[in-house]
Amino acid sequence: MSELMIGEIPVSQLVKQYQTPLYVYDEKQMVENIKAFKQGFQSDHFKTKILYASKAFQTVAMLKLIQSQGLGLDVVSGGEIYTAVCADFPMEEVYFHGNNKTPAEIRYAIENGLVHFVADNLMEVELLVALSQEYQKELQVMIRLNVGIEAHTHEYVVTAHIDSKFGLLYESEECQKAIQFIQGSEFLQLEGFHAHIGSQIFELSAWIAEIHKLVGYLKDFDEVLSLNLGGGFGIRYTESDQPLPIEESVRELVRFTEEALKKQGLVINELLIEPGRSIVGEAGTTLYTVGFIKQTPNKKYYFVDGGMTDNIRPALYQASYQCDLATKLREKKTEKVTIAGKMCESGDVVIQEALLPIAEPGDILAVYATGAYGYSMSSNYNRALTPAVVFVNGETARLVVRRQEYEDLLRGEVQ
Ligand SMILES: *Cc1c(COP(=O)(O)O)cnc(C)c1O
Repeated sequence: MSELMIGEIPVSQLVKQYQTPLYVYDEKQMVENIKAFKQGFQSDHFKTKILYASKAFQTVAMLKLIQSQGLGLDVVSGGEIYTAVCADFPMEEVYFHGNNKTPAEIRYAIENGLVHFVADNLMEVELLVALSQEYQKELQVMIRLNVGIEAHTHEYVVTAHIDSKFGLLYESEECQKAIQFIQGSEFLQLEGFHAHIGSQIFELSAWIAEIHKLVGYLKDFDEVLSLNLGGGFGIRYTESDQPLPIEESVRELVRFTEEALKKQGLVINELLIEPGRSIVGEAGTTLYTVGFIKQTPNKKYYFVDGGMTDNIRPALYQASYQCDLATKLREKKTEKVTIAGKMCESGDVVIQEALLPIAEPGDILAVYATGAYGYSMSSNYNRALTPAVVFVNGETARLVVRRQEYEDLLRGEVQ
């Protein structure tokens, strides 16, 4: 095959129909990822629940897919709750995160039937006590803990980040008070503890350290609580990323939790995880059109018709990606080039160094594994229009977000 296919559709056909830049998601791949999580994340000793961390990629169509697969949902803002409401997502399956939920957001959540709150700090717990009373609504509260473990790719550090903006140190007075306030309140129930230790994690050892910490806290309680291990499962952006298979990873997490509980003679009600990136990341591809090509003394640039406005991660985290000229898959890769976007920032580079065939203006460039934190972090900088989003399922493609038009840029402006 000399042309890239997404699902069973040649990319040139997608580009003809929907233009570029374009976010394309392979639905079957997302469903496969979800199935792998479901297969592996099961226990005979406690309930298990998988929440999709929707900040990775949230649209109504995506939430419908998540719901159809029976997963719960993580949200972090009123806007994400609004989207879930519009997708008819069952609110009792939604968990509300965030370190500074506003009173208006909490009210909005309660009024829409959301019951699971992951509380970040003592002031939030106090507000939840008051608002649950006011609404006479029972709410389940997990406390987000800072377990002092910070994990990224192959390394993790213990006793890192005690001053992180997220969560509470279990031993702190603030945390102990938060627990007491919840236990003493009429309408709040302590559901358990949550921790999220990082992103792009490849080593199980960091998770195991986390589980060890969390399980250790349970012996202070008579009630049976739940534990939420967070997200952060690594994906393959480039060849240097070697993630463990999803099913195997989560099976190990369950097994280790079972062992840790058994050792201490403890039980939990439910074990939760919150994958985001690992469900959508590799299922997404961004298609661009190559425009001008330029040779500087030391570099050759292929410019594309998008950039940091549709994928901020290279500029924000020096993230790496792989790409291909999508209709020249069989051609010899002779050119060492930099793929740069069209925005007015020197940092607007999509890929620092790519080995590609000789390109001509009009060629389609496909950047792989852009499904997470691309669309959801997109912006209108330079008044760039947010690309369309298309879901491919086998031979069929459907538009799930239309491309912005110039008029959209003025929406909300008051003349
Ligand atoms: C971002 C986030 C996740 C998801 O992280 P991924 O790396 O996308 O899996 C899960 N839980 C919390 C609390 C988060 O902030």
